[in-house]
Amino acid sequence: MKQYDVIIVGLGPTGGTLANLLALNGFSILILEREKNLYALPRAVHFDDEIMRVFQTIGITKKFLKNTIINKGTKFVNSDGKVLLDWPRPKSITKNGWYPSYRFHQPDLERNLRNRLKKFKKVKLMQNTEVIEIKNNRDSVNLLFKSKNKLQKVHSKYVVGCDGARSTTREQMGSVLDNLGFTQKWAVVDLILRKNKNKLPDRTIQYSNSERPATYCRNVGKRRRWEFAIQDNEDEKEILSDEYIWNFLKPWLKPKDAYLERKAIYIFQSAIARKWRKGRIFIAGDAAHLMPPFMGQGMCAGIRDASNLAWKISWCIKKNHNEKFLDTYQTERFSNAKEYIETTMRMGEFVNAVGSENITDNISSGPDGTKSMQSIKPKLGVGLGSNKDKNRGKIFPQLKMKDGKTLDEKFSRSPLLLTSSKLSKKLSLNKIQSITDKDIRGLSNILKSYNAKAIIVRPDRYILKTFKKVKDFNQIETLPL
Ligand SMILES: Cc1cc2nc3c(=O)[nH]c(=O)nc-3n(C[C@H](O)[C@H](O)[C@H](O)COP(=O)(O)OP(=O)(O)OC[C@H]3O[C@@H](n4cnc5c(N)ncnc54)[C@H](O)[C@@H]3O)c2cc1C
Repeated sequence: MKQYDVIIVGLGPTGGTLANLLALNGFSILILEREKNLYALPRAVHFDDEIMRVFQTIGITKKFLKNTIINKGTKFVNSDGKVLLDWPRPKSITKNGWYPSYRFHQPDLERNLRNRLKKFKKVKLMQNTEVIEIKNNRDSVNLLFKSKNKLQKVHSKYVVGCDGARSTTREQMGSVLDNLGFTQKWAVVDLILRKNKNKLPDRTIQYSNSERPATYCRNVGKRRRWEFAIQDNEDEKEILSDEYIWNFLKPWLKPKDAYLERKAIYIFQSAIARKWRKGRIFIAGDAAHLMPPFMGQGMCAGIRDASNLAWKISWCIKKNHNEKFLDTYQTERFSNAKEYIETTMRMGEFVNAVGSENITDNISSGPDGTKSMQSIKPKLGVGLGSNKDKNRGKIFPQLKMKDGKTLDEKFSRSPLLLTSSKLSKKLSLNKIQSITDKDIRGLSNILKSYNAKAIIVRPDRYILKTFKKVKDFNQIETLPL
């Protein structure tokens, strides 16, 4: 029986990201995917700067960027067209080194992730293959799958289920999906404009309306999307008829203006799995959490999972399997994903025009009374490092190096210590690579802004630890070195 380092179940955006991040370490990876071909229709249309940073580490940004546009933000309006809330996304580069928010076409991202995987000889993809059973052993995992009508067995050091909302892996782990309270039926309509010239808004518009809450998305190129809520007693067949849809679209478009690319009904739900790891088996992405798409963060949460888990699994393969270390995957990611889910739910209630709570605490009023919202940036939950350290669990900026490259371009596989060249000599952290002010201009000011003499940054770009005093330098108990 063939043994792999890691088996990934499901090749959506989460599986594709995880496979690429693990492959950068040279591991043998088997990816098992039920579908014969890439899913050609879009679901996600938005992601943020933190996610682009992960794509940059993978090395797909050069090609992928060409088919993305910078997202200008979202306006929430009532049925009279009055702006209730603005969520602008300024067109300036953030500390992550990218624009705050992008629009994209999901199949295009997935194609880029798959093409990138082809360069790794030790990565094998089997499509039209369904995973049936997954079982933990002490030092490995046994997996049973069906391919070409034949059952086959395989084993690996770790298995990660990136197998979506109806995850087989989650079921095999015996993990329960807890419903967090938002369940609503929405129709999703994707169109391709026949001409470039149009008078449609260039931002996302959320139509807060208790009768027919709706969303308009300005997507890439000539693509546009409308989503609208439907009641349980409405006839789905009628709603999805061309006649109904063109009637709904009347205020914006006529059939001569665009092609209907697809129309579908989705149940928008909010849910989170209770257990994300069992022994050497993990779940990530939609398998671990589900949220409605109002904030455009469902896929993003899965990419964050992949980024968190990839370096921890890599660490365990290269060094030693460590239960406590792997436990931090769920503790760090769970509360972060939950905050996105809960904020999205409040946004959903706002769009339904029944929201009684503010969407976030980051809302301020302008001189004309218009309310403006800023994006949330939740820290990681408890896990590696000490919670007394206020910087721990925050994302660290993508700094420019003196040689013109960025920190991310040069380092991605192991934790990094940032300190002054003077202090780096005092450190006995020979297991961690250090970068000093000799490599990064202005590093001492950056350290000062964190009130730190040194910072350890993890491969997923989050801060593991800040050292306030030189005498703290030998306390690096937070990693299983
Ligand atoms: C209308 C809509 C709009 C959205 N908009 C956004 C947005 O703008 N931004 C955003 O971040 N998110 C958005 N999302 C959410 C986003 O699409 C999902 O979170 C994301 O696609 C999940 O990716 P995944 O890789 O975890 O799972 P999936 O994409 O569901 O992939 C799972 C894969 O596993 C395979 N699989 C399942 N079971 C098995 C098995 N037993 N054996 C082998 N293979 C298996 C499946 O075939 C599938 O390919 C939106 C969702 C919807 C529905």
